[in-house]
Amino acid sequence: MSKDTVQDGQVVTMEYTLRVDGEVLDSSDGVGPLQFLAGYDNIVPGLEREMIGMKIGESKDVVVSPADGYGEFDNEAFMEVPRSEFPEDMELEEGIELNVTDEDGKSQYARVEGITAETVNLDFNHPLAGAELHFSVKVTALRDPTEEELDHGHVHEEGHHH
Ligand code: ZN
Repeated sequence: MSKDTVQDGQVVTMEYTLRVDGEVLDSSDGVGPLQFLAGYDNIVPGLEREMIGMKIGESKDVVVSPADGYGEFDNEAFMEVPRSEFPEDMELEEGIELNVTDEDGKSQYARVEGITAETVNLDFNHPLAGAELHFSVKVTALRDPTEEELDHGHVHEEGHHH
């Protein structure tokens, strides 16, 4: 049975804006509200915790510390990779973002931090690591998940099955 407050196992529809250092980084304005299944690590933990118990129509400003957001910036999360390991025709530039596949075949986000004649220095920190996240959220709807959504642990929006 659908509940009238946000709780684990409910599909929450929300409007949101994310600001970091006063700058809007992400927003549902224009693209429409976001749906997520609460309780399944679909949004950053610090935001989800504050949203539990919110009612339909309720708005809230939530400040999330790095530890409860995308993690602290990790000075160890860098790796020097020989240039020879990159395809010869690949344009390498400081600041570009790559998906690096490790030995186990797992794809990982990385940003090119620096380049020398011999090596490429990769930064594996999340782009928002170390950032204090300022969310403004409004709950616009709540519903029960389908069995399949519960099974997968995420929402199936139209045309976005995975
Ligand atoms: Zn799925």
